[in-house]
Amino acid sequence: MSPMQTLTAPRAHNTGRRHAPPTPAQAAPAAAQAAPAAQALDAVKVHGKGSTAVRALDSVSVSFDAGRFTAIMGPSGSGKSTLMHCLAGLDRLSGGQVMIGGTDLSTLNDKALTVLRRDRVGFIFQAFNLVPTLSAAENITLPLALAGRKAERAWYDTVISAVGLADRLSHRPSELSGGQAQRVACARALVSRPDIVFADEPTGNLDSRASAEVLGFMRRSVIELSQTIVMVTHDPVAASYADRVVFLADGRVAGEMSDPTAATVLDHMKSLEA
Ligand code: ADP
Ligand code: MG
Repeated sequence: MSPMQTLTAPRAHNTGRRHAPPTPAQAAPAAAQAAPAAQALDAVKVHGKGSTAVRALDSVSVSFDAGRFTAIMGPSGSGKSTLMHCLAGLDRLSGGQVMIGGTDLSTLNDKALTVLRRDRVGFIFQAFNLVPTLSAAENITLPLALAGRKAERAWYDTVISAVGLADRLSHRPSELSGGQAQRVACARALVSRPDIVFADEPTGNLDSRASAEVLGFMRRSVIELSQTIVMVTHDPVAASYADRVVFLADGRVAGEMSDPTAATVLDHMKSLEA
């Protein structure tokens, strides 16, 4: 399958059609018409060795359809960041498989994995990770520049306008509010038109107003720009912006929910923590 094919995959969630998943029994039942944008199959991750080893993922199978906004929630230490890092090719599994589109990441050597991350995956981190000496515009195009690529002009303009940053492009990160800085990071993640964007606690450093700006943009980028987002969060309000929430507890999938509200998410979290 070509790298860009998942971008044109039909959006599965509003068709109501069900097809057999392309991979065996463990695939989550949420069906996709093409390969899911990302999936984990019996994923196991053990951190450390011997008596200090921690089984952070204990046979996790979950899939993420293209064109959807999914939140991953769970108590602290439940394996959310580990799952996201393994899905995004930032860390390797101890067992099982992760797939990005049709690509099994375990078949890639480190160099091929770096190229896949660069060309097909976008990242948004809690701490923004902007380069302080560069303007907003330069930060947004830096990953493309490093890859020797140029932004597609029309897409760049679309992203800048959707993220509401047109009048801030010459500012340095220190001249931006937290919400603006994280929106720059969102634009940076989207400008290469990745197949999937992973965000780890993207609103963890933001107040509620700035969080709403960033989450509103992420939601619009899924609805209006057909992006695919997987977001780790422990905030039920943040999760309520997603189409779907997958819950983790003790390194295992502990339920999922479509069309979440902050209240229904909070209720489920309480039952997991009880
Ligand atoms: P979450 O993001 O849900 O808080 P993590 O995925 O960060 O959870 O961690 C899951 C478990 O794995 C925790 O018990 C954590 O202490 C452990 N863990 C995470 N990363 C490492 C690491 N690099 N080395 C050892 N243990 C780790
Ligand atoms: Mg974490």
